[in-house]
Amino acid sequence: MQKRVTGPEIERLIQLLARVPGLGPRSARRAALHLIKKKDQLLGPLALAMSEANDKVRICSTCGNADTSDPCTICTDPTRDQSVIIVVEDVADLWALERAAAMNAAYHVLGGTLSPLDGVGPDDLAIAGLVNRVASGGVKEILIAVNATVEGQTTAHYITDQLAGFDLRITRLAHGV
Ligand code: ZN
Repeated sequence: MQKRVTGPEIERLIQLLARVPGLGPRSARRAALHLIKKKDQLLGPLALAMSEANDKVRICSTCGNADTSDPCTICTDPTRDQSVIIVVEDVADLWALERAAAMNAAYHVLGGTLSPLDGVGPDDLAIAGLVNRVASGGVKEILIAVNATVEGQTTAHYITDQLAGFDLRITRLAHGV
């Protein structure tokens, strides 16, 4: 049996860090040690930032973005063209598009793609919410920015069908995200 090196609090910190994407047990151990060494500059502020984020984080009931207010910063931004909605699979795609390009539009996060093999149907995604947004008026254009996978394209087809009755311009972002 391996001898304990640290108390349970630090072990727990390492175990949780190891579950962060991009970190494994080895990197988690190194990160934990770094945080402990930089207790005042890093560990304390990080703990506070995590606590505040944990208290305030919300999923926007309009678009599905993760933010600290509902509706989110993007949905309430008066400088954005809210008549254009970019449809993405995941919040990560929304953030990536925002970083990569000045889109200046609204978004709609689906929460995945249609995948019958994995048991993911239309009701598991935020498609009805998208149709409701369009039905409530003011939307002129939908940009579908799902991945160029079979599931992504199936999802894009399905959404296009669901929105067929509305006076809309529907385009696909050619290269996806
Ligand atoms: Zn929103």
